Amino acid sequence: MKAKDRRLAELRSALPEITPAEALALQQQGAALIDVRDAEEIAQGSPVSAHRLGRSFLELRIEDAVPDLQQTLCVMCAGGVRSLFATEALKRLGYQDVRSIAGGFSRWKNEGHPFEIPTFLSAQDRERYARHLMMPEVGEAGQMKLLDSKVLLIGAGGLGSPAAYYLAAAGVGHLGLVDHDVVDRSNLQRQILHTEARVGMSKVESAKIALEGLNPNITITGYETRLDSSNVEEIFSGYDVIVDGTDNLTARYLINDACVKLGLPNVHAAVYRFEGQITVFWPAYEKNQSGCYRCMFPEPPPPELAPSYAEAGVLGVMPGILGLLQAVETIKLLLDIGEPLVGRQLHYDALSTQFTLLKTRANPNCRWCSEGAEFPGYEDVAQVCASNA
Ligand SMILES: [Zn+2]
Repeated sequence: MKAKDRRLAELRSALPEITPAEALALQQQGAALIDVRDAEEIAQGSPVSAHRLGRSFLELRIEDAVPDLQQTLCVMCAGGVRSLFATEALKRLGYQDVRSIAGGFSRWKNEGHPFEIPTFLSAQDRERYARHLMMPEVGEAGQMKLLDSKVLLIGAGGLGSPAAYYLAAAGVGHLGLVDHDVVDRSNLQRQILHTEARVGMSKVESAKIALEGLNPNITITGYETRLDSSNVEEIFSGYDVIVDGTDNLTARYLINDACVKLGLPNVHAAVYRFEGQITVFWPAYEKNQSGCYRCMFPEPPPPELAPSYAEAGVLGVMPGILGLLQAVETIKLLLDIGEPLVGRQLHYDALSTQFTLLKTRANPNCRWCSEGAEFPGYEDVAQVCASNA
């Protein structure tokens, strides 16, 4: 008897083996199914909802996939041999109830149990997003999720530039950009998507050139239009997150109202000279912890009392910082990780170097977002421009 066969016989007698049907039943009761085959084998099919960890990194990856040592593990390979060795390794790591699936995936498939053909990142994407793939909070599944996501940025200006740049770099697969403006030389102090050579070009066009240069594998949809009550819902629908990078109040109300109506998270930031703030308005999230923009400021002030930043001035770096925070919060929302900035507002004072986190609250009488409120309709405000923050 060869040493390998002797060892296998020992393992078979010491470790519990189960049939694919028993494994499926256990999985339906909450057991984790661990597929330890190589990527090329898994590409041909793998049980639905299996953790596809591979054999070589199994010990390194298992705790992120299944942190609870008491959870039952059913281990699968192609024919039921490698899974025995993996079962032994998992028991040594401290997992209490580990079972090897006899006959492996070939028997699973032959017996007609459900499986799927998993989608994988291309080799090029694997290289591009390598630093994301290393992190358990993102990993391959998270990166696939980002590539599947749609984010709409209102304004390709001071906030929109850094937000769009990093969301494109991070591999958010579909970015929408709304801006009707053209690049002006005075924008270049902060709107880093644009360049001296593109002064006079539409901002949407200029932004597309910059973003496609950085990441040609994502889709960018430009809307060279003014957002107003007649087009806002059509433009917003289908997006997962709205990033408000506008610098004017009228636009903020319209974006808020549409987000409330459509149940979309609104990643909202504003900058003023050496200060900036960011929050996420998302009344649909966990019993309305955040409220909406109108909970804070129910009605727009008259236009003459609402200066745009063109008049107030802003340190060029400020929208950079706040726009990047918008990108981070957007990625958290897309991946459903961490605690979203819902019900809290972060305020940054650059001159004193202070970050302050404040609580925000829903106004129980808000006409837009309070429970049971019927959408009051869009206000017939003047056409809204979206650009220069
Ligand atoms: Zn509200």
